[in-house]
Amino acid sequence: MEPIASTGSNSTGDAANLSEGLSRASAAEPRGLRDRTYVAHPRLRRLKVTFILATNALGLLGVILAIHQAIRVGVSALDVRMLVFMYTLLVVGVEVGLHRHFSHVSFKAGKAVRAVLGVLGSMGAQGSVMAWASVHRCHHRYCDREGDPHSPRLHGPGMRGRLAGLWHAHLGWQFNDRLPNSIVFVPDHLRDPLVCSLNRLYPLWIVLGLALPAAVEGLLTWSLEGVWRGFLWGGLVRLPLSTHGSYIINSMAHGFGRRAFETNDDSTNIALLAVPTIGGAWHNNHHAFPYSAQVGLEWWQLDPGAWLIGGLEKLGLVWDVRRATPEAVKRKRRGRSGEESAW
Ligand SMILES: [Zn+2]
Ligand SMILES: [Zn+2]
Repeated sequence: MEPIASTGSNSTGDAANLSEGLSRASAAEPRGLRDRTYVAHPRLRRLKVTFILATNALGLLGVILAIHQAIRVGVSALDVRMLVFMYTLLVVGVEVGLHRHFSHVSFKAGKAVRAVLGVLGSMGAQGSVMAWASVHRCHHRYCDREGDPHSPRLHGPGMRGRLAGLWHAHLGWQFNDRLPNSIVFVPDHLRDPLVCSLNRLYPLWIVLGLALPAAVEGLLTWSLEGVWRGFLWGGLVRLPLSTHGSYIINSMAHGFGRRAFETNDDSTNIALLAVPTIGGAWHNNHHAFPYSAQVGLEWWQLDPGAWLIGGLEKLGLVWDVRRATPEAVKRKRRGRSGEESAW
């Protein structure tokens, strides 16, 4: 594999250079995986397993405590609002921040907006900015082939293979001892001081994701009970919803649902999940046009992430927004490929 670190993208992510480098590497790939694609170590497995068990145990504990509390004293409107607010905030951080900006550079932004998106995405506890973007770029490069970190399609035939694939894509892949190599997949971020700082402080952002709703509900009610309820509903109960809300795209949107475009993978669109995933569930559209900041390509395909990016663009807070043009969509619908290799 040609070292992508030599492509020379700048600190805000030079989309063209990155695109060129990744496409070139991708084109030279059919001989199978090379050594540098992944880093592997037994300690990495321990770290990943500890993290995934801890976050899922915390989430489960939160749900049990919330059910107990709901039966005992009920649920307040503020509890529900904190849950919805924190869920929305963090899914925006993951889908608009980690996915569309930091993984695909589908728009550019200044330091403040990038920092906010990076912090919100990191608060989602799905991996640091660099780890998330490395895994995701690796997914696009090897999609549903050997090397894809979380494809549900490579686990044998029949129902047994299908179920094993679903488990692997949803959570199982996080129990192995390897991660896509950041030197290969995110050379732009490794040169970016802002992303390096976001990465260094990753544990702090996870704690902030739990502490922020506690502080907000505590202040709004000016009570310790409010602190506890904010922590419980906006922090602990929100944790499994926002993490599994993203994992479900990995597991379900590569097999279940409809395909609008013939892509070189098994990606699908799942309309029912479009709003809760802020547009991320138009996954077949996304694999057809991975560089596009807009993934809802029909008027009826709700894409709140694209609305937010469009709003920020109008305010001058983001720019160089890349969108699939109607002509490109038409070409792709006629079965002509060529869009999906570009970032
Ligand atoms: Zn995918
Ligand atoms: Zn993507």
